[in-house]
Amino acid sequence: MQIELTNITIRDLYNGYKDTAEDGVKGFGGKLDIRPQYQREFVYKEKQRNAVIDTVMKGFPLNIMYWVKREDGTFEVLDGQQRTISICQFIKGDFSVNYQYFHNLPQDKQVQILDYSLTVYQCEGTDSEKLEWFKTINIAGEKLTEQELRNAVYAGTWLSDAKRKFSKTGCIASSLGDKYVKGSPIRQELLETVLSWIFPTEKDRQGNPHQSIESYMALHQQDEHATKLWAYFESVINWVKNTFTEYRKEMKGLDWGLLYNQFKEADLNPKTLEIEIKKLMEDDEVSKKSGIYAYVLTKDERYLNLRAFTDKDKRILFERQNGICPHCKETFGLNEMEADHIMPWSQGGKTDLGNGQMLCKACNRRKSDK
Ligand SMILES: [Zn+2]
Repeated sequence: MQIELTNITIRDLYNGYKDTAEDGVKGFGGKLDIRPQYQREFVYKEKQRNAVIDTVMKGFPLNIMYWVKREDGTFEVLDGQQRTISICQFIKGDFSVNYQYFHNLPQDKQVQILDYSLTVYQCEGTDSEKLEWFKTINIAGEKLTEQELRNAVYAGTWLSDAKRKFSKTGCIASSLGDKYVKGSPIRQELLETVLSWIFPTEKDRQGNPHQSIESYMALHQQDEHATKLWAYFESVINWVKNTFTEYRKEMKGLDWGLLYNQFKEADLNPKTLEIEIKKLMEDDEVSKKSGIYAYVLTKDERYLNLRAFTDKDKRILFERQNGICPHCKETFGLNEMEADHIMPWSQGGKTDLGNGQMLCKACNRRKSDK
């Protein structure tokens, strides 16, 4: 891992500056990807943009920028993208500050701006070193999300295609899955979600399931396209639509991919599922309605946050029993006992005092083991 502190003049930065739809924004003699294609589309506010130019014109320092050095000797801007673009656009003449365009400034003023020196940290190292480093320095400027950091490390053809599908406002993934998936495409949250679903299902070169999003991205980094990732996402969303035919707002933001991975081969009946879901939606004992979908598949009651007896209820039940455990008939203190539903929720029992009792911890465990 190597980190180098360098000074780059605006003249060198602007050399070869280009902003095209095919190649994104480039500079530094064509060696710097200022904004790779399909990256963030945030637009710097005019005020922020002008403040950058004002700082440069006055010769005051800008905050440090971070560039990633790639194996082939080219660079990508990790932090400082908007400032870099503002500077280049100003020199090119895209906008004026205080009614002054760059080309209208006196010659000496122009030279002074071109000679202005930016402080840039250039870092190179293994992918995991870079990722660790980015996480550490991720403090300056606009905070990058975890997935934006990963994208900086595993940039390549595969990622460009994945971003085309998952990382733009109105991208195909968002049109297809918006009702079911939360998160902003441009902050890379949609991409992160689908990656978090697919990585455990895919095997690495040794035939072991991937342990992380990073290992999955590293393996696919040089792939020509991300069609497989897209096809997976499509399958997940279609499975959800076909399995849970009645849409409810609670369906947005669930970990659908993980349920799909586990139950895609299961023989599920949408009609009976819907009847069960409707009943649970109306059930006052179910506190977490969004957990119903995972529950009807897994039958794990923890997804439902079933209602529990309050401390007040526990005190009443305790006094009513005079501290005696009805199962073993021994006497206990309140803190040695736990509230229990005499008739469990799964058999229709409610969380009310008529269906409650205090059991000693041992008896309660014995009861729930049955
Ligand atoms: Zn007991």
